[in-house]
Amino acid sequence: MVFDPEQVKFGYAKSETLPRYCRECAYLKDCWGECPKNRLLRDPHGEPGLNYLCAGFKRFFAHARRGADALAAKITAAPAAEPTIGAGAVR
Ligand code: SF4
Repeated sequence: MVFDPEQVKFGYAKSETLPRYCRECAYLKDCWGECPKNRLLRDPHGEPGLNYLCAGFKRFFAHARRGADALAAKITAAPAAEPTIGAGAVR
């Protein structure tokens, strides 16, 4: 069923029918225009296919990215942990 031609066509359409506004979006790899059933608007360039929830997605991704960047910085700055095997630490 997953490889049914109609299903495959639908899957590719999700990324191949994105309007320019999405293709140039900083959050493209997080969002991919979300579900095609919600792509009801025209983008600022006049292309159809913009998700009507776009403004909310952008606010969410901007908020989430700040937290993710801060977490990544803490992990990068932390000293490397000693490897462990099973439930106990190897000493
Ligand atoms: S956040 Fe908006 S512009 Fe960006 S990929 Fe999602 S729907 Fe498109």
